[in-house]
Amino acid sequence: MPNPKERSAPARQVRPATEGWTQQKDAEGRPLLQFASPRRGKPPVHLADLTPEQRVEKVTELGMPGFRAKQLEKHYFTHYTHDPAEMTDLPAAGREELVHGMLPPLLTEVRRLQTDRGDTIKFLWKLFDGALVESVLMRYPGRITLCVSSQAGCGMNCPFCATGQAGLTRNMSAGEIIEQIIRANRVIAQGELGPAEHDGERVTNIVFMGMGEPLANYARVMQAVRVMTDKKHGIGMSARGITVSTVGLVPAIKKLADEDIPVTFALSLHAPDDELRDELIPVNSRWKVDEALDAARGYFERTGRRVSIEYALIKDMNDHGWRADLLGDKLNARGRGWVHVNPIPLNPTPGSIWTASTRAAQNEFVRRLEAKGIPTTLRDTRGKEIDGACGQLVATAEDEAVAASTPLED
Ligand code: SF4
Repeated sequence: MPNPKERSAPARQVRPATEGWTQQKDAEGRPLLQFASPRRGKPPVHLADLTPEQRVEKVTELGMPGFRAKQLEKHYFTHYTHDPAEMTDLPAAGREELVHGMLPPLLTEVRRLQTDRGDTIKFLWKLFDGALVESVLMRYPGRITLCVSSQAGCGMNCPFCATGQAGLTRNMSAGEIIEQIIRANRVIAQGELGPAEHDGERVTNIVFMGMGEPLANYARVMQAVRVMTDKKHGIGMSARGITVSTVGLVPAIKKLADEDIPVTFALSLHAPDDELRDELIPVNSRWKVDEALDAARGYFERTGRRVSIEYALIKDMNDHGWRADLLGDKLNARGRGWVHVNPIPLNPTPGSIWTASTRAAQNEFVRRLEAKGIPTTLRDTRGKEIDGACGQLVATAEDEAVAASTPLED
């Protein structure tokens, strides 16, 4: 527990508040939480939305023998194409209809921002109904990570987050989630993500830290994860390279633990005390810090996979030494060796209450956690040069204007 003397020291406490926008409130005056997707049209059904058996059925319905489904899977998941002209092993008669029926276009690229070194690319995509989402592709030594979106907008209403400001537009389909990876793989295959380390490179790691709360779109996210990891009928990635993160939807964390797909699980905690976390992460009013940590520990017990705790370090808001101690104590109270903490300094934003902790505060936070035996790694926020730190993605007014003038792919 924190040293009471220290806790009563006059440390500056900045309270969370929105800047430049007004948080939507519910009838009781609390930040509005949206769990259900507002009704909107659904994107066309795509091969990646279906199980292998359903794909065979649908191909048959389209008038082709079922084995064509396997050929389409290969074109899409291995060659990253949905262009009928490239699928010369399919009969010319009916090919267009088949490919269009199974692999309808889902994402139109509106804009691409790339760092000078070319090792980070932010994509802005328009969905079939005009909704905008983003992905960020990052090359690191020995791995390539894609940060994907799982919802257009987000219903969790976190006061620091640009994505949450407009609320939830709709859940993305599994096909729309997978298509972000396929498009990224195509960009890599075309040599557009900085100098390649070897032939046949593709995305090795996925983080669900783009737009949306993945566990609020549970069924579609899980279908996408199955397609990512399926070696026979999907992309064939390692489940360990896939990180599903959440702000703490406890029932969904328990469900995830029972799935028998050993993805990496990350809890975006950002505060160890309910007093602050209630304001910082509005969903904390439903499921408290201890409940979220118990569920995270349960994930470890069920899967044997070490859990990550994400902690954005925000100057004078959540970066106090006593909070590092409290976090360490709460984690240790649930056992040893089951968790890793990733403090992530916010980008410096002069004049904002949402700004980077001082270097000294960052180091002290890490030192205190380590002193309690908690493995801790201070992370870098890649993408800040191009205005695309994960979890803070949003379409700017300029993006909206470009999107409006970009015709949808067909
Ligand atoms: S931080 Fe994450 S959960 Fe919170 S509003 Fe933003 S996208 Fe949603």
